[in-house]
Amino acid sequence: MTQNCLSAATLYVVATPIGNVADMSSRAVGVLREVDCVAAEDTRVTRHLLDVHGLQTRLIALHEHNEERAAQSVIQMLSQGKRVALVSDAGTPGISDPGSRVVRLVREAGFVVSPVPGANAAAAAISISGFACPHFLFYGFLPARQSARRQALEGLAPLLYSVVFYEAPHRIIDCVSDLVAVMGAERRILIARELTKLFEQTWCGPLSQALAWFAEDAHRSKGEFVLVVEAAPEPQGPDPISPEAEKTLGILLEALPLKQAVALTVSITGTHRNVLYERALSLKQAI
Ligand code: SAM
Repeated sequence: MTQNCLSAATLYVVATPIGNVADMSSRAVGVLREVDCVAAEDTRVTRHLLDVHGLQTRLIALHEHNEERAAQSVIQMLSQGKRVALVSDAGTPGISDPGSRVVRLVREAGFVVSPVPGANAAAAAISISGFACPHFLFYGFLPARQSARRQALEGLAPLLYSVVFYEAPHRIIDCVSDLVAVMGAERRILIARELTKLFEQTWCGPLSQALAWFAEDAHRSKGEFVLVVEAAPEPQGPDPISPEAEKTLGILLEALPLKQAVALTVSITGTHRNVLYERALSLKQAI
């Protein structure tokens, strides 16, 4: 990529690999080569990435503790017409990583922000889950404290979206225990461990079996994790009325008051009372 392809006074938000270095796009390499400066979550991590690709671009630190201040340096460079790239240690900046605040400030200052998309652990996990039909929700990290974690899960449990969580290895067992307790043992989970790395491993099954899977091998609770929990089951509609119940109800309604006709139809056919009551009301209106 030549410098001409990059626009002046633009912040490029560049995704980097989540494990496998080969997952760096050639466009991302070109942008990191051509920008005037790379704002990085950890300059040592990004220096290594730049070395792998033979790049010597200038680095500045932009992490969660200096994001506002570093954003001002970025804005100053942009106001001089420079091009700046933003990267995090791994994956897409701004997704459970620093980046969101600087992007907002740069945008508010009137400069263009442009994405250079690439690896993201959540997208990688959902893509191999088979659960995204059609909706999913990205939650990221749950609270560290159990009471807050359970409270958050209680809000998520009834949603008709598969939910994607990030979790650290030292909390993975506690987190999965809470998922079993709150989401229910029947719900399926995809455990995606060390994606794109040497020891990549995935397991999919009911939450009831997830803790046993971890217990089989101590290595399974080490590394980086994405958890995808399948959506809550669709609520069941009212029981259908059998043709026999429909016929019985119709005959009884001609001779009896509505309540009595419904009660007798319940006794004769075993159909749920509320379903018959609703049906009786609409039949009466139609008569
Ligand atoms: N911005 C990153 C992204 O785009 O995915 C996420 C950064 S967040 C600080 C790090 C968390 O992402 C890890 O704790 C883990 O939950 C998840 N993660 C990152 N890389 C992963 C990988 N290779 N395999 C599984 N999970 C990963």
